[in-house]
Amino acid sequence: MPNKWVKERRCRIEGCKRPYRAKGYCNVHYKKWRRGELGKARYKTCSEEGCRAKAVRWGLCEEHYKAKLKKNKKAS
Ligand SMILES: [Zn+2]
Ligand SMILES: [Zn+2]
Repeated sequence: MPNKWVKERRCRIEGCKRPYRAKGYCNVHYKKWRRGELGKARYKTCSEEGCRAKAVRWGLCEEHYKAKLKKNKKAS
Protein backbone atom coordinates (compact mmCIF):
# COMPACT_ATOMS: atom_id res chain seq x y z
CA MET A 1 0.00 0.00 0.00
CA PRO A 2 2.66 2.56 0.76
CA ASN A 3 3.92 4.07 -2.44
CA LYS A 4 6.64 6.54 -3.22
CA TRP A 5 4.21 9.43 -3.16
CA VAL A 6 3.42 8.76 0.49
CA LYS A 7 7.04 8.22 1.25
CA GLU A 8 7.94 11.65 -0.03
CA ARG A 9 5.34 13.43 1.98
CA ARG A 10 6.77 16.07 4.20
CA CYS A 11 6.26 19.64 5.19
CA ARG A 12 6.32 21.90 2.18
CA ILE A 13 7.96 24.73 4.03
CA GLU A 14 11.46 25.00 2.75
CA GLY A 15 14.02 23.74 5.17
CA CYS A 16 11.45 22.28 7.54
CA LYS A 17 12.26 18.75 8.63
CA ARG A 18 9.37 18.07 10.92
CA PRO A 19 7.23 15.06 10.15
CA TYR A 20 4.28 15.44 7.88
CA ARG A 21 0.96 16.23 9.48
CA ALA A 22 -1.68 17.41 7.03
CA LYS A 23 -2.41 19.64 4.03
CA GLY A 24 1.21 19.50 3.02
CA TYR A 25 2.51 20.78 6.31
CA CYS A 26 4.04 19.52 9.52
CA ASN A 27 2.20 19.96 12.79
CA VAL A 28 3.62 23.41 13.48
CA HIS A 29 3.13 24.79 10.00
CA TYR A 30 -0.25 23.18 9.68
CA LYS A 31 -1.41 25.13 12.72
CA LYS A 32 -0.02 28.30 11.23
CA TRP A 33 -1.76 27.56 7.98
CA ARG A 34 -5.04 27.06 9.83
CA ARG A 35 -4.62 30.45 11.41
CA GLY A 36 -3.97 31.91 8.00
CA GLU A 37 -0.41 32.85 8.81
CA LEU A 38 1.00 31.14 5.78
CA GLY A 39 -1.20 33.09 3.45
CA LYS A 40 -1.46 30.63 0.64
CA ALA A 41 -4.51 28.76 1.77
CA ARG A 42 -7.00 31.56 2.23
CA TYR A 43 -6.32 33.47 -0.90
CA LYS A 44 -3.97 33.55 -3.78
CA THR A 45 -0.80 35.41 -3.09
CA CYS A 46 1.22 37.58 -5.37
CA SER A 47 3.43 35.59 -7.69
CA GLU A 48 6.17 38.15 -7.46
CA GLU A 49 9.07 36.62 -5.66
CA GLY A 50 9.14 37.35 -1.97
CA CYS A 51 5.80 39.13 -2.04
CA ARG A 52 3.05 37.70 0.13
CA ALA A 53 0.35 40.21 -0.56
CA LYS A 54 -3.04 39.13 -1.74
CA ALA A 55 -3.23 38.65 -5.46
CA VAL A 56 -5.87 40.75 -7.16
CA ARG A 57 -5.05 40.34 -10.84
CA TRP A 58 -2.79 38.30 -13.08
CA GLY A 59 -1.62 36.51 -9.98
CA LEU A 60 -0.18 39.74 -8.68
CA CYS A 61 -0.97 41.90 -5.70
CA GLU A 62 -2.33 45.37 -6.24
CA GLU A 63 1.06 46.97 -5.97
CA HIS A 64 2.78 44.68 -8.43
CA TYR A 65 -0.22 44.68 -10.70
CA LYS A 66 -0.08 48.45 -10.96
CA ALA A 67 3.64 48.31 -11.54
CA LYS A 68 3.10 45.88 -14.36
CA LEU A 69 0.41 48.07 -15.87
CA LYS A 70 2.81 50.97 -15.90
CA LYS A 71 5.45 48.86 -17.55
CA ASN A 72 3.05 47.69 -20.20
CA LYS A 73 2.03 51.24 -20.96
CA LYS A 74 5.60 52.30 -21.38
CA ALA A 75 6.33 49.38 -23.64
CA SER A 76 3.55 50.11 -26.05
ZN1 LIG B 1 6.92 22.50 8.71
ZN1 LIG C 1 3.21 41.68 -4.95
